[in-house]
Amino acid sequence: MSSVLNSAQKADLLRRGFSRRTFGRISTVLAAGATLPFYNERALAQLSMVRNMPPDAVKINANENPMGPCPEAVDAIYNTVKNGGRYMYEDTYELAQTMAGIEGCKFGYDPNESEIEIYAGSSAPLHQAVVAFCSKDRPFVKADPGYEAGERAAKAVGANVINVPLRKDTWDHDVRAMIAQAPNAGLFYICNPNNPTGTLTSRADIEYLVANKPAGSVVMIDEAYIHISKNAVPTVDMVAAGKDVIVLRTFSKLYGMAGLRAGAALGRPDLLQKTRQWSAGMMPITAMVGATASLRVKNLVAERRKIMGDNREDTFNFLTAQKVEFIPSESNCFMMNAKRPGKDFAADMAKENVYVGRAWPVWPEWIRVTVGSKDDMNKFKAAFTKCYNV
Ligand code: PLP
Repeated sequence: MSSVLNSAQKADLLRRGFSRRTFGRISTVLAAGATLPFYNERALAQLSMVRNMPPDAVKINANENPMGPCPEAVDAIYNTVKNGGRYMYEDTYELAQTMAGIEGCKFGYDPNESEIEIYAGSSAPLHQAVVAFCSKDRPFVKADPGYEAGERAAKAVGANVINVPLRKDTWDHDVRAMIAQAPNAGLFYICNPNNPTGTLTSRADIEYLVANKPAGSVVMIDEAYIHISKNAVPTVDMVAAGKDVIVLRTFSKLYGMAGLRAGAALGRPDLLQKTRQWSAGMMPITAMVGATASLRVKNLVAERRKIMGDNREDTFNFLTAQKVEFIPSESNCFMMNAKRPGKDFAADMAKENVYVGRAWPVWPEWIRVTVGSKDDMNKFKAAFTKCYNV
C-alpha cells in the first residue's frame, strides 16, 4: 500500500518522526482523496443531515451561497466547456496571476518563485498542510468551536489536536492560550471570520501569534469568509513580508462556486512547496475560468457583501424581537441558542422543509444557521416560529 508515496514523501515523513509502519495508513488516506476521512463543509453537513433532502428544501445548513456563480462566471464557463477535451494549464496560471495581482503577492511560473498555488477549493490545501506540518510530535492547534476539517486530517496522520476555547463574549481566537498550550505546534489554524460563529479575530492578535509562536510552526489563516465581512482585516501582506503563514482563500462562499471548486493557498514558496508535495491532479478548467471572470467583476464583492449582510441583519432583528440568544456574526452563518439539544431543533425544522446546520459538541444546544436568500430566511422565520419553544 505504501506505493502511493514517492521517495521524497517517504524521506519527509521519516525526517518528521513518522515510522515506516505509518506509510501504509498515510497512503490509504491520500489515495482515498476527498472521500475518506477528510471532509469539506458539504460532507461535514451531511454527517448531521437528514438524508434525501427534497428538491424544494431551504438549504441553510452548509454555508453555501444561493446566488451561485455571477453571470460573468457562468458565461466564461459556458464558453469554455467545448474546449473540455484539452488539458489547459494556462487557465490555472491565469487565475493565479490575476489573483496574485489583486492580492499583492508574487506569481511565478516557476513554483520556487510563486507565492500562490491554485487548488480545486480550499479543503485540499488545508488537509495537505496538516499532513505536511503536523506529526505525532507536532500537534494541530485550533479554536473550539471551530472548523473541524483540519482536525480530521490531523487525526488521520496520528497528530494530536489541541482545541482551545474561543474567548468568552468576544468569541475570537485566544492566541495567547493557543501558544501556551502548544509549545511544539506544527500548525496553528486561525479561521477568520470563524466558522461556525462568524466572529473576527483582530489583526493585532494574528500578528501576535505570528511573532510569538514557537519556531518551526506555521500559522494558517483560513479566510474562506473574509469577503463577506465588513471589518475583517486580510493577512496576505504577511506572505509578501516573508512570515511563516499560509493564507487560504476559496471561491465557494461569496463567489458562489462551491460545486465548481476553486481556491488558493498563498504563502512563501518554501511553505507552498511542502504543502504541494501532498497534492495531485489537474484543476477543472470550468472553475478556473469562472473564478478568473469573477475576480474581474468590479463591484461583485461589495454588492454581494451588502445583499448577504442585509439578509443576516434582517434575521438578527427577527431573533432579537423573539428574544433569542445569538452571536453577532460578520459572515454568512451564525450560532443561535436553541435552548434544547440543537439536533432536535434541527430535526423539527427539517420537518418544516428548512434544513439548518449542526451543533458543535462543545455547545450542544447551539445550532449553526447559514444566511440564505431573503426568501430562504422568510421560510426560516416561519418554521422557527413553529419549532422554537415547543
Ligand atoms: N474553510 C472553511 C472555514 C470552511 O468553512 C470551508 C467550507 O465550508 C472550507 C474551508 C472548505 O471549502 P472549499 O473546499 O469548498 O473551499
